[in-house]
Amino acid sequence: MTVLLIAAALVGFGLALRLPARVVWVMLATLWAAVLLAHLTLPGDHALTRAIGGSAAHWFVGGAVVALILLYGRGLAALRARARPGALPAETGTFSPAELDRYARHIVLREVGGPGQKRLKGARVLVVGAGGLGSPALLYLAAAGVGRIGVVDDDTVSSSNLQRQVIHTDARIGQPKVFSAQAAMKALNPFVEVRPYNRRLTEGDAPALFAEHDLILDGSDNFDTRYMVNAAAVAAGKPLISAAITQWEGQISLYDPARGAPCYACIFPERPADGLAPACSVAGVMGALPGVVGAMMAVEAIKEITGAGEGLRGRMLIYDALYAEARGIVLKRNPGCAVCGGQGGAGR
Ligand SMILES: [Zn+2]
Repeated sequence: MTVLLIAAALVGFGLALRLPARVVWVMLATLWAAVLLAHLTLPGDHALTRAIGGSAAHWFVGGAVVALILLYGRGLAALRARARPGALPAETGTFSPAELDRYARHIVLREVGGPGQKRLKGARVLVVGAGGLGSPALLYLAAAGVGRIGVVDDDTVSSSNLQRQVIHTDARIGQPKVFSAQAAMKALNPFVEVRPYNRRLTEGDAPALFAEHDLILDGSDNFDTRYMVNAAAVAAGKPLISAAITQWEGQISLYDPARGAPCYACIFPERPADGLAPACSVAGVMGALPGVVGAMMAVEAIKEITGAGEGLRGRMLIYDALYAEARGIVLKRNPGCAVCGGQGGAGR
């Protein structure tokens, strides 16, 4: 009886401190070993052995039965995981043993942990563009276990993409980029859902698409799309992680006027004159640069979803790859902004 009370106290202690189940099991196993040891080493009429009750044989058999039940349960779970490769677990908000193993390096991070990983699983993220920035962003979001990832792009894979768009492959040249990206993401992590939208995002369908997602990532390569994505994100009240690259330099920020931060149009009210900001196809781009900046988009998305650290609301990070320098600048809302003026707070 005394031993059972101590065991219950240990379980209660573990639950109160939200210790991993494995730690609680180790404590219980240690208690069992101590009880067994007491019976084996102390005389039978010792006060301690009388207090804990039973005999060494009883405790040994009891422990063996519990260990067998646990092993049986683990074996069943492993068989089930093998029988349904890639199937999403039925219970939302819980993880199969295969998922726990896959996300273990996240779960041990203090800033993510089990709750953060559950938020990632419940998150719906839309990525505009499956090109240079979209490639690493999509791969890392899928690897991180973001539950549902939408990707919208109307382009097809061409050989000139492959110098930087590493989500695509030589064998998939000619395929729509969203299907090529979907294949890569599902191959990397069958536990996430990918929704490919093989079309050019328009003002008409952006509101409905944005409403279905918690967070928008813009990795598009032209100003028309960037302004349209910003306007739709502002209208939907969704945070927007937008990045851009040219030649050797990249920039990234989180635009969110609904929560006091500027929108993209606050910072860039007018598109640059033709020729001042040429597209990558004209000016060129160093292949690993979108790898760095697109991965930063995934980092900021994971932070935004899990609440870890300090995001890029009201700040822009500029990375100069040619001179290996990064700097941050503070961004302010423009009260007269044609897109978000008068919306949200006055700035925090
Ligand atoms: Zn604005």
